[in-house]
Amino acid sequence: MNTHMTRRKLFHILSAAGLGPAFASRVVADESGKGSKGKEQTLGSMLQSTSVENRPRHPAFIRDGKVIQPERPLPVFQETDVLVVGGGAAGWAAAVSAARAGAKTMIVERYGCFGGLWTGGIVLVVISTHTMENGQMTQVVRGIGGELLDRHAKFDNAIVNRGEAKFNPTTDPEATMFIMDEMIQEAKVKTIFHCWATDVIMDGGAVRGVVFDSKAGRQAILAKVVVDTTGDGDIFAAAGAEHEQRLHAMGLVHRLGNVDRADLAALKKAGYKTLGAIEPQPSVRWVNLRGPTANGLDINELTRLQFEHRRAIWERVQKMSKTPGGEQLFLLQTAPQIGVRTTRLLAGTHQLTYKESREPRKFPDTVAVGGAQNGKHAGWPIPYGVLLPKKLDGLLTAGRSISMDDKLVEDGRLIGACLTTGHAAGAAAAVAAKDGCRPRDVSIPKVQKLLREQGAYLG
Ligand SMILES: Cc1cc2nc3c(=O)[nH]c(=O)nc-3n(C[C@H](O)[C@H](O)[C@H](O)COP(=O)(O)OP(=O)(O)OC[C@H]3O[C@@H](n4cnc5c(N)ncnc54)[C@H](O)[C@@H]3O)c2cc1C
Repeated sequence: MNTHMTRRKLFHILSAAGLGPAFASRVVADESGKGSKGKEQTLGSMLQSTSVENRPRHPAFIRDGKVIQPERPLPVFQETDVLVVGGGAAGWAAAVSAARAGAKTMIVERYGCFGGLWTGGIVLVVISTHTMENGQMTQVVRGIGGELLDRHAKFDNAIVNRGEAKFNPTTDPEATMFIMDEMIQEAKVKTIFHCWATDVIMDGGAVRGVVFDSKAGRQAILAKVVVDTTGDGDIFAAAGAEHEQRLHAMGLVHRLGNVDRADLAALKKAGYKTLGAIEPQPSVRWVNLRGPTANGLDINELTRLQFEHRRAIWERVQKMSKTPGGEQLFLLQTAPQIGVRTTRLLAGTHQLTYKESREPRKFPDTVAVGGAQNGKHAGWPIPYGVLLPKKLDGLLTAGRSISMDDKLVEDGRLIGACLTTGHAAGAAAAVAAKDGCRPRDVSIPKVQKLLREQGAYLG
């Protein structure tokens, strides 16, 4: 029997069976109205065989009571100009900027979406988008980050507090993830989700790439410049760059549903002062949780707080829904990502201080401008040195791990600043890769020119 089947023939058979194109992404609603069971059984027939995995195995073993990882060659997944590790606000902006500047760009993300804490952590409120300059409210999150926020306006219920005389918008996480996907794909950034960068590849004192783990095993990526936007400085720490480590409050954000059906006055009387902050969806509020000071690099702490926070949130919402006025409320979602605020901070060639940020000053190597949380004070120029390790070559950082003092962390880790420092790191990495120089030798005027061309605000 001839078992060969063309793609067209397969499509035809599946369509006739009511399954539609099996190879194109398609949202299938449960049309039967009988629950998902029947549909799932039908989908079972889409199971296809694939070739048996045949990669070399090099398992660890025990020798003299020690676990030994054997030396082995690693397959090189890809070589690229700019490799961005971590697709949060900072990494995403870095990748879009580098790719738009013409650098071959790749981004590796451990989860399945862009946005990091903003989307996966359900943080949602983009603080520090504006400042006050000469009595005028001035937008500082422009360029790549500004475009991302603007694109939300195309959709209903995707953003609030954006527009004339408004600042610190709140976005809908699904809209943000959708637009981030759209912009990264338009820029032709090679993306790999579900990959965890675990080590660096060194060439003397320079980073030349990373080692990452995934369902497909351990592999390597080689790059001219690596941008560490893991938020936790995983890559610069693995490379031995000088850095500091901080503890910070670790929380878990959640979202309440059916808020528009709650009797707020009755709930207030019962002691619930607020149900949380507004979201673009009128029936939903997001609720922040500060949490105790903890070490965001300690897996026992991460696990303990994940359990404790989730339980506390569940119990709180259960209680509220049994309170007169709150009967319709329900727990829509706890954030898939626990809220780690600060861990490692790079020791950069310039450690920016809070004091510097509040004094009128200019830096010749300004690559971004930080905003005001309350929209009321002047912007603070951010010098290139906060992205650049003191000694390590081949690497830049951006986002919540930049080189700043403890007091400035409360400004530097906000989404607004992460978008702009990410944009700056991407532009600098692209220029370094193109000019074949180390990030520390990059032409600052060239980087600034590129940033301005890409719409960034440098003061
Ligand atoms: C509870 C809480 C509330 C907050 N509230 C606000 C607020 O209201 N407004 C505001 O502006 N800011 C707020 N922040 C701060 C802000 O959300 C974050 O600091 C900011 O989003 C950080 O962006 P980032 O890109 O630097 O890092 P992250 O968002 O942490 O992104 C890092 C990315 O790297 C990925 N990654 C990490 N390690 C690896 C690895 N080894 N390999 C591959 N990928 C990796 C992660 O999955 C993630 O996608 C809050 C933070 C918390 C925790």
